[in-house]
Amino acid sequence: MSDCIFCRIVAGEIPAARVFEDEATIAFMDIGAVNPGHVLVATRAHVANVFDLDDAQAAALMRTVARVSRAVRDAFAPAGINLFQANGRAAGQTVFHFHVHVLPREEGDGMRLDWPVKNPPREELVANAERLRAVLRG
Ligand code: 5GP
Ligand code: ZN
Repeated sequence: MSDCIFCRIVAGEIPAARVFEDEATIAFMDIGAVNPGHVLVATRAHVANVFDLDDAQAAALMRTVARVSRAVRDAFAPAGINLFQANGRAAGQTVFHFHVHVLPREEGDGMRLDWPVKNPPREELVANAERLRAVLRG
């Protein structure tokens, strides 16, 4: 038996309020919902984080996220929706099985994400882009 809580949900070993499933993904209600309609979309396979997703899993995940987002919009008519996804403890990840939060939002709902903008100089952006292009070139 897995000690990963989301693997246990996928396997049906612990209950979850399921929303959608296909061959690569599963969507279920977040037990700690911030607002009504807060859904988690996860890979069926145990993948710890974004770094370990293969291309097919990444594509399938985003397809389900978009499909569930449209359903949340139609069912709950929120003022907005955020997609949240955390990788690593420092980024706020608490369950180490890849998932995306589909989080309905309302004005003044108390949800906060501080975004301490630094506005770096253009040369720094250009240099950072080149660092990334070098990695992507392989
Ligand atoms: P993270 O911080 O890793 O992005 O989010 C993990 C989420 O999983 C949290 O929002 C938490 O409420 C949710 N969660 C943790 N355990 C369970 C569970 O057993 N069932 C369900 N449905 N959600 C869970
Ligand atoms: Zn897992």
